[in-house]
Amino acid sequence: MFKSLSPAQLDPILSLSIAYREDPRENKMDLGIGVYRNSQGETPIMQAIYQAEQRLLQTQTTKSYVGLAGSEVFNQSMMDLLLSGSSAHARSAVVQTPGASGALRMLADLIHIAQPDTTVWLTNPSYVNHKPVMEASGLKVKFYPYFDPDTKQVNSQAMLAELAKAGPKDVVLLHGCCHNPTGADISFEDWQAITALANKNGFMPFVDIAYLGFGDGLEQDGAGLKFMADNVEEMVVATSCSKNFGLYRERTGAAIIISDSQQEAQKAKGRILTLARSSYTMPPDHGAALVAEILNDQQLTQTWKDELDQMHGRILRLRKGLTQAIRQRGSDQFDFIEQHKGMFSVTGLTPKQILALREQYGIYAVGDGRINIAGLQEQHIDHLAGALISVTR
Ligand code: PMP
Repeated sequence: MFKSLSPAQLDPILSLSIAYREDPRENKMDLGIGVYRNSQGETPIMQAIYQAEQRLLQTQTTKSYVGLAGSEVFNQSMMDLLLSGSSAHARSAVVQTPGASGALRMLADLIHIAQPDTTVWLTNPSYVNHKPVMEASGLKVKFYPYFDPDTKQVNSQAMLAELAKAGPKDVVLLHGCCHNPTGADISFEDWQAITALANKNGFMPFVDIAYLGFGDGLEQDGAGLKFMADNVEEMVVATSCSKNFGLYRERTGAAIIISDSQQEAQKAKGRILTLARSSYTMPPDHGAALVAEILNDQQLTQTWKDELDQMHGRILRLRKGLTQAIRQRGSDQFDFIEQHKGMFSVTGLTPKQILALREQYGIYAVGDGRINIAGLQEQHIDHLAGALISVTR
């Protein structure tokens, strides 16, 4: 049966990681794969997670099934984390999912069941998995103007002009913060404007927030999402604990449905549970149990918040340090790196320049010019600054 299959395409980021591993150069750097790394180049288990794991080891008595929606304690905690103080809290329902990837797929499936001819509008460019996931659910995909390659910032005017054309058959996908891949985020005024458009034209917002706390901290990173949730009748949210709890492989995330009433939100939740049943059935428990442990204990929550602050503080320092090092070499062409948010920045480098970075300097970045700032070690800032100037000269 399978002989007729043509081979799958290699994932460009994974093949980049293999080439990196085999590179013998001492000052090589992997700015490709999207994981947080500390000053030693490691992706450590967070202290709060480690402590929660110790507790779980003492207290957990069974590995029996939890349920289709996962842990309701986790679900409630995620709702509190994202929507505390918001009026939407009372008309929301949450389902634990295998990462934000699972949430994206479940929500896309739900949209397809409710309205099969929906078009999902994505930022141009967007997270590489958005289009395939939406299309796998049977939804149509369209891109709206977002990143301006000249300024390396969001082109709000072009974005809002295009979104003004979206209507009731459309879903507009927004990145909650720390846009992947560009690093360019919409302003609070943009959140307000898009909310007004959603209410006027009837499209539904779909927010993917995978990096809460990685931009300017928990409060600020969630402010746009909260404003929108307060002010629209209906929206959905996919969220992840992969980055901000460092739980990547534990596949921990959630899908949130906000509706005009608790009853409607629960009805949508029920349909997601049916969808989950026909695919993975139940989400993996371990990561969610750890997050629930942390968010329901004051001391663990504080430890986690402190660690998250250190991580986003380090990213901000790396952004500043790199921009300054480039400036000291007489160039301001990469100043945008300091303004971008989260782990990623799209640099505007061409595939040829990206190749030169790898071949001449041992610097590994993705072909679209995205670099992972959190993959940079402090002692390599000068090397990267020099290389960026040299390949763009
Ligand atoms: N959304 C965005 C914007 C992402 O960058 C990612 C990958 N980190 C995901 C969703 C998927 O995350 P997860 O590992 O939780 O499935």
